[in-house]
Order: sequence, then C-alpha cells, then structure tokens
Amino acid sequence: MGNIIELDEQLANQINAGEVVVRPANAVKELVENAIDAGASRIEVAIEEAGLKKIEVVDNGSGILGEDVPLAIRPHATSKIKAIGDLQRLRSLGFRGEALPSIASISRMTIETSTADESAGSRLVAMGPDILTHEPGAKRRGTKIIVEELFYNTPARLKFIKSLQAEVSQILNIMNRLALAHPEIAFVLTNEGREQLRTAGNGDMRQVIAAVYGMRVAKKIRKIQGEDLDHSITGFVSLPELTWSNRNRISLFINGRYIWNLDLNRAIIEGYGSKLMVGRFPLAVISISMDPHLVGVNVHPTKQEVELSKKEELKNLIRQAIRETLADEVLIPDALENL
Ligand code: ADP
Ligand code: MG
Repeated sequence: MGNIIELDEQLANQINAGEVVVRPANAVKELVENAIDAGASRIEVAIEEAGLKKIEVVDNGSGILGEDVPLAIRPHATSKIKAIGDLQRLRSLGFRGEALPSIASISRMTIETSTADESAGSRLVAMGPDILTHEPGAKRRGTKIIVEELFYNTPARLKFIKSLQAEVSQILNIMNRLALAHPEIAFVLTNEGREQLRTAGNGDMRQVIAAVYGMRVAKKIRKIQGEDLDHSITGFVSLPELTWSNRNRISLFINGRYIWNLDLNRAIIEGYGSKLMVGRFPLAVISISMDPHLVGVNVHPTKQEVELSKKEELKNLIRQAIRETLADEVLIPDALENL
C-alpha cells in the first residue's frame, strides 16, 4: 500500500477551517455576513470569553428551509452561486460555502431557523463531524446560530489567540465595519452581557459613525457624493482639522463589502490636497455602488483585496468628491477669522 491517502472530509475541513477561521473574530464576521446575505434588518451578536466560549448571532432574515439545514454545514454547499459565471453578478458577501462547515467542524454549533413559508422551523445541533440532533423547532422568522467551544478540537490554534481583550477589540472592529457598511441594518453587539455597539438601522450613516466613533467625531464630518458612468459613491469624510496618525478610520465598501485598496486610499488623501498635514490621516467612510462585473472578489477568502476594472475612474471620482466638499467647507472659518 502506498503512502498517500485522501483525507476524510472531516479532517480536510478542520485543516481548511484554518483558511477561513483562524480566530473567533473570523467566525463572527462569517456568521454576520450570512445574516446580511439573508436580508436581515436586525442582527444581534453576543459573545462570551471573546467568542471562544460562545458566539450567538440572531437575525430576522430569510431563514433556512428545513431540508437545507444539514446541507448548510456541508463543505462547498451554498445557495448563493450555481456556476462560475454567477461570480460576475455576485451581490452577496458569501459564495464559497465554506464558513459554516469550517466553523461547525471546530465547535459545537446549534442552528435554529425558520422560513416564512414553512409551518415549523428546525433545530440542528452538530459537534465537530457529527449531527447530534435535527428536529422541528419553533417558528420564529430568521436564524439563530450558536457556536460554543470554538477550537475545542484544534488546541494548537488556541495558542495563537494572544489575549482575550485583543480578540474582543478585533470583534468590535469587525462589527463596527459591518455596521458602517450597512446603516440600513440594526446591529447590537454585547460582550459578557454588556453592550458594545448599537445602531438604529434607519439608513443614516452619520448616526452609525456617531455610534462607532463618538459624537465629537460625528460633528466634524461632511457628506461626500459623486457619480460617473460606472460608479456611484456616498459617504462622509472628516474636516482637515480632525486627523489621526494612522489609517484605521478609513473604510471603503464596494456593494456592501469592506475592501482594502491602497490606491483608493491614496485617492482619499489626494482629495484633501494640501489641507492635510503630512503623516496625518482623516476619517473616511465611503460606500461605492457599482456593477459587480467590474469587481473581482474571487481572491483569498480572508483577504479584503479586490480587482477593479475601472480603478482610475473610481480614484478620480473619490478625489473629486472630497475636493468639492472640502472646498465648500474649510474656507469659511478662515474667512471669518480674517474679518
Ligand atoms: P456561503 O455564505 O458562502 O454560501 P456558508 O457556509 O457561510 O456559505 O453558508 C452556507 C449556506 O447556509 C448559505 O449559502 C445559506 O444558504 C445558508 N445560511 C447560512 N447562514 C444563514 C442565515 N443566517 N440565514 C439564512 N441562510 C443562511
Ligand atoms: Mg457565508
């Protein structure tokens, strides 16, 4: 007998989980993105011990059909794409069908879900490879997913979690970003029962910025807006007097997905021109809508980089929108001072 064997699916999944879920914050992101994809208008997240003991995500989205629930934790099972061409039209955050199986393979997962059309909901409990129970459940529109004892069977990975506090901060960062990307969704995050974030879900991005960064910051931001043939952008940027020594408060979203792109970042800074001190960075929260076929998202699952077909046009649009807004604003205090 040779030496090469095919790994059984459970083991392959456990290893593969390392690609998508290396820390509790990754699991939170995947679960909340699923809730967003399900069309939820309200998403409540509760964590205990930085998510290692428990992560609970409750949404009021579409729910999962009873017959589909066991499939949802099977590898590469997704309701979001059917063929490779669908990536060109992708509107959802997920499409790989890897998150739930990855998380389920390294935790105890409970799924309680019900759809509008079915007379009852369903409840499934899985522990690592095994489905422990799958039974009818209460009818309550939406989905509740509880993840307990994350990494219980992958102790090596536990060592990489530096400190619980750092992990809680990372989870808060991710929730902040998701809330900024989706002002139309009401988010709540609680840590050990204490509320860390709450947004109204009324579509007002300025209010979300106030919830995330505080009122003082929200008072010193201005709205930007712009459109070209392929893109439409809207968001807020801070006045040049309000800056920081790092880029942490710059968030760009394309079709509701957080992305990182150095060129677009530069375009923001260029929009400020000489108004920004060297080495200082503004706050910028910018939502970009564009035809999905102009954005390549099929890169590495944990990376936020995207390929943009019309990057130069988009850079111009961002630069110009910021320039226009700030041109109206910053001259006023100067002019008053000179009176
Ligand atoms: P993906 O999001 O890439 O499709 P996941 O493993 O994250 O893969 O989820 C698998 C499937 O389970 C999804 O395609 C979706 O049909 C279903 N699902 C997961 N979470 C939810 C949810 N909160 N509400 C409704 N359906 C869900
Ligand atoms: Mg998903």
